[in-house]
Amino acid sequence: MSIFSSVIFQSDGGNCYFFDHKINQWQFIHPILFHILELHLQGTDVTAWVKELQTDPIEIKGLGSFSRGRIEYYYRKFLLLQQGNYFRRISQEDIFQTDLKDEEIERMLANISQITFEVTEACQLKCMYCGYGTLYDNYEPRKNKPLCPQTAKNVIDYFSRFLNSPKNKSRDKSVYIGFYGGEPLLCFPFVEEIVSYIKEKTFLNNRFKFAITTNGLLIEKYMDFLVENNFNMLISLDGDEDGNSYRTFANGSPSFQQVLGNVQALRTRYPEYFEKYVNFNAVLHNRNSFPGVYRFFRDKFGKFPSIGSLNTLGIKDSQRENFVKAAPVPSRKENSGEEFAKIEKDMFLNLPTNNALTTFLHHSGQLAVKKYNDLVFPDIQAKKLPSGTCFPFSKKVFVTANGKILPCERIGHDFPLGTADSENVHLDVHSINQFYSMQYKKIYRQCLQCYGVGLCVQCIFYLNLKEDNPRCSEFKNAEDFSNSIKSYIDLLEKDPWKYAKLLKETIVED
Ligand code: SF4
Ligand code: SF4
Repeated sequence: MSIFSSVIFQSDGGNCYFFDHKINQWQFIHPILFHILELHLQGTDVTAWVKELQTDPIEIKGLGSFSRGRIEYYYRKFLLLQQGNYFRRISQEDIFQTDLKDEEIERMLANISQITFEVTEACQLKCMYCGYGTLYDNYEPRKNKPLCPQTAKNVIDYFSRFLNSPKNKSRDKSVYIGFYGGEPLLCFPFVEEIVSYIKEKTFLNNRFKFAITTNGLLIEKYMDFLVENNFNMLISLDGDEDGNSYRTFANGSPSFQQVLGNVQALRTRYPEYFEKYVNFNAVLHNRNSFPGVYRFFRDKFGKFPSIGSLNTLGIKDSQRENFVKAAPVPSRKENSGEEFAKIEKDMFLNLPTNNALTTFLHHSGQLAVKKYNDLVFPDIQAKKLPSGTCFPFSKKVFVTANGKILPCERIGHDFPLGTADSENVHLDVHSINQFYSMQYKKIYRQCLQCYGVGLCVQCIFYLNLKEDNPRCSEFKNAEDFSNSIKSYIDLLEKDPWKYAKLLKETIVED
């Protein structure tokens, strides 16, 4: 089975482009080359077509009239690019591997950037859209269980052995210890104990930083400690009182005023810390809006929040209707006009559209390379793993209150990579390798025919892995794919300043 590595498309501005996912590159091209490519992708023998041209000049429908000499010039260019591996038919063997190497996983363990603990399952709030709430069923029943401090210490010891080993190639890199919940500040002694444990340990290569995600209800009580230890703090708040009205206590009463009071107390007492270390995350739904959220955080705190969306993974069948009701209602009015232009500039990378654009530019080859060598000799033979799932432990590790070890906090708890308890950590690199290979093989056949391969960001854990052939809703045929690339190019042609701003402001972390 083979597919073409290239798709072509015209932007709204009438410009011609191709994208080649083997080379991972998009290029602005002349209309004649565009037409030649179009013929090639339709299966026409382009050499015969050029030879048989009857008139001079030649009219190409929708693109203009061109001299024979010009067409021959672009034909030669087409041949040259083809020799350089563009516009090829590619088969599965060219693209994918489904096996990881054990040493690669160990290398990730030794260069981990973030270890996050689900400190407790308990939370004072029962937010309507909570991933552990009534809308979802892909988690184990919550029993308000706390994570045992000794289990967390065993995890730290396990990773510290790798971090202090010669396999660690990221000297001086910061490793984050994250505290997540439930509400982590409900178990403040745990947080204190782990911070002091980290401070006492010797790490040869790395510095440690702390991060906490909180609902904001206990900030005032514990702020001295959090400030003293320079905690990066992410506060969940959906905007003003109405916007925040899904974030309620179990009895339905609102949490807004209490959180607001805490945040204001923190800002008053520690203004510099607040400026540097505090950020907000707002979930968009049908009770708030982009402009509303933007204005609230700008006016109240002089900050721009990151914007989250409702979790689409693991929704109960019986709750689909309620989920749809809670989803944000897009308004055309909101996404245009002077105020939106201002919002776009201020919130820039926090906006989902710009975020997607960044991912597109990052993955489409020209702006970022994985290895320095790729700057000079891009390895186009390199095989990739199916889907856009991160390599295990390449971003972080998440330990649930039950001691399950997961690749991150954003996925269900059904497929732990290992476990930890008060005795030990049970992680078997080879079994993890086999588990991933098995999942890749399930999706591999769809990826083989998918044009989105080069830009895929689909996490395999968001598919139904309980099935033998989980369906990927992001699968793209040639037309879907060229439409999706076109939408990014249209954005850049409409607002070229975004390109420069993205280059300047995006930080690609190792
Ligand atoms: S959602 Fe998937 S791809 Fe993203 S960090 Fe988590 S495991 Fe990795
Ligand atoms: S979008 Fe889905 S089918 Fe396409 S490459 Fe990614 S995981 Fe495979």
